[in-house]
Amino acid sequence: MKKITIAIDGYSACGKSTTARAVAKRLGYVYGDSGAMYRTVTYYLLQQGVSLTDTAEVSRALGDVGITFKKDAQGNPLTYLNGRLVEEEIRSMQVSEHVSAVAAIPVVRRAMVKLQHQLGEHKGIVMDGRDIGTVVFPEAELKIFMTARPEIRAQRRLKELAAKGINASLEKVLANLEERDRKDTTRADSPLKKAADAIELDNSFLTFAEQVDKIVKLAEAKINA
Ligand code: C5P
Repeated sequence: MKKITIAIDGYSACGKSTTARAVAKRLGYVYGDSGAMYRTVTYYLLQQGVSLTDTAEVSRALGDVGITFKKDAQGNPLTYLNGRLVEEEIRSMQVSEHVSAVAAIPVVRRAMVKLQHQLGEHKGIVMDGRDIGTVVFPEAELKIFMTARPEIRAQRRLKELAAKGINASLEKVLANLEERDRKDTTRADSPLKKAADAIELDNSFLTFAEQVDKIVKLAEAKINA
């Protein structure tokens, strides 16, 4: 059967990752989490005490970052940094607070896009991020641009963090989302924006199953076209 590329972009905490993962599972596709890549680089730089504004230092450090993914028992990807599982560490508030600054550095983006191209070279992939439909896979057959109201996004993210035992206030989570959206939409290199041929999906009042169904139906229409 024909395989396609599905790009899911949108604002922070719109549920892109969980949706992309579920769509990939339904279609038997690979799921690519591009945000996890930027988070892993950020985690490494923070750990090494590299100044995030020193582009030469960041560039040098980047050469020591090996990002790989392995699947857990449920088939969900787990992120590894130089062979060490860092899935939990990269979701911390500290990483969330610095990731958009790191993701704005062109040398970082070039390295991550290379990795993303490798993951998607055989198609049959659902990748979520900020520039997947515009920069990484501009030829993707299906592009979704996900949105949801900020308060709803913050509440969802808070729940997610709480489930992991991470305590944060709604105000702090909301402020972090809005700040990341501001940085992601205004950066010079690959800013977050809706691709001209992307389908906008506001999921504020959709159930998870409804939005997954919608995307799977759109994908099947492309696959069978
Ligand atoms: O998707 P997630 O929230 O994990 O992404 C973390 C951050 O990584 C985003 O806020 C954004 O700054 C950056 N990012 C990006 N381009 C992507 C994916 C993520 O700039 N394709």
